[in-house]
Amino acid sequence: CRRTRGQSPWMSKKRVHLYRWILPLCCHGGGFLTSVWLFPNVGNQAPETSENEVWRKDGDKVDLAEQSLLNKIIRRSLVRNRNQVEVLQRDPSSPLYSVKTFEELRLKPELLKGVYNMGFNRPSRIQENALPMMLAQPPQNLIAQSQSGTGKTAAFSLAMLSHVNTANKWTQCLCIVPTYELALQIGQVIEQMGKFCPDVKMAYAIRGNRMERGTKLQEQIVIGTPGTVLDWCTKYRHIDPKKISMFVLDEADVMIATQGHRDQSIRIHRMLTKDCQMLLFSATFEDSVWRFAEQVVPDPNIIRLKREEETLDTIKQFYVLCKEKEDKFTALCDLYGCLTIAQAMIFCHTRKMASWLTTNLIKEGHQVALLSGEMTVEQRAAVIERYRNGKEKVLVTTNVCSRGIDVEQVSLVVNFDLPMDMDGNADNETYLHRIGRTGRFGKRGFAVNMVDSKHSMDIINQIEMHFNRRIKKLDMSNLDEIEFLQS
Ligand code: ADP
Repeated sequence: CRRTRGQSPWMSKKRVHLYRWILPLCCHGGGFLTSVWLFPNVGNQAPETSENEVWRKDGDKVDLAEQSLLNKIIRRSLVRNRNQVEVLQRDPSSPLYSVKTFEELRLKPELLKGVYNMGFNRPSRIQENALPMMLAQPPQNLIAQSQSGTGKTAAFSLAMLSHVNTANKWTQCLCIVPTYELALQIGQVIEQMGKFCPDVKMAYAIRGNRMERGTKLQEQIVIGTPGTVLDWCTKYRHIDPKKISMFVLDEADVMIATQGHRDQSIRIHRMLTKDCQMLLFSATFEDSVWRFAEQVVPDPNIIRLKREEETLDTIKQFYVLCKEKEDKFTALCDLYGCLTIAQAMIFCHTRKMASWLTTNLIKEGHQVALLSGEMTVEQRAAVIERYRNGKEKVLVTTNVCSRGIDVEQVSLVVNFDLPMDMDGNADNETYLHRIGRTGRFGKRGFAVNMVDSKHSMDIINQIEMHFNRRIKKLDMSNLDEIEFLQS
């Protein structure tokens, strides 16, 4: 893609980089968020708030947009998934095409070159079915759901680049996403993939990008957030919605969790013509997402790839009886002394506990990384990157921060605080998710739970019953036993 300059909202790479760091500081509206980005409040137990956050049943708040962005930033490759793709065709009698190679898609040679240049050898599981549908003539609508990291962004980026008629100097493909950071991430994918397509141009409809009212955009692809896109279509008339022939709505689940975005998306959708191809993507698919998807995508084909189940089969689970946090800390240090631990992840309930533990582990001479809620997404990504590269062997984290992060080489997971819901019961789902980080890909893993009260012992019992797996007591006074367990 070639950049346009002057008044154009297209941003150079340098500026994009600048925006990623500066915009959060100056544009993140809303008083509290601004203070979060500007003045980190280390050790504060109060949960952060932002418009994208949802409450979980355990009382934690999860910022879906941040989580999604973090995943995008840190992800380097496709997520492994051996499940079959489920395809529901609008017209079951029409043949179902799937491709095993990018050549079969008959892409423009310069686009194919861009795809290979990104290191993509063959379509991912979801792409095998989604790409032929997205590129079909006459156009077909699509709703696609699969977990983060399975190749959705790459798929619709390719579809948009392929769809563009470069002879036409107006916006033809419109992609809306929940936040401008996500817009920039997608823009980077399109820029990379379209590297050898010099006539395709792209613009960002995100706040801060301004043009004179009435100026018509010449860029064929526009990526933006619903509010700005709506303004550009109505108030400023930069985009003629009637000329849009491909509409992509990404991160539908995050979109509808964000105040106002749902209605803005529907308003944008209403301005498009009936012939416009509608594509909607989501990592999850609750009823609310489904209801929204049905409103935005008429007569859809549906593609779903179920998340691969996490399993406890290769994980040895233990608990250690302790009195209070100092005792838990000692147990942790003893464990470290005995086990040959490649990398460990330690989960705490609060930021305060995580920061206390980190400080003490560092005092003991451990190299520790701390992932904490008050950090910006970029800071978190940097911490995860260092940990992944083995610069730190221990990652201390609160639950909220760590959700969705894949680090493959974890050999020990420690629940310094056990996962529980708001009613004080075992949070089995979180437990599985936490300890599922160890014992992956045929490797053996260890999970150690710190039990410091009768209540936490009850939680261990509930977890044992739920998964029908024994959690063995670990005798910290018998170090030989611990070493034996490793073998
Ligand atoms: P999603 O949008 O589902 O989160 P992405 O499209 O961002 O997934 O892809 C996840 C990661 O996999 C990215 O690093 C991307 O570059 C890579 N990727 C996507 N498609 C392919 C492919 N066909 N072959 C190899 N890597 C791919």
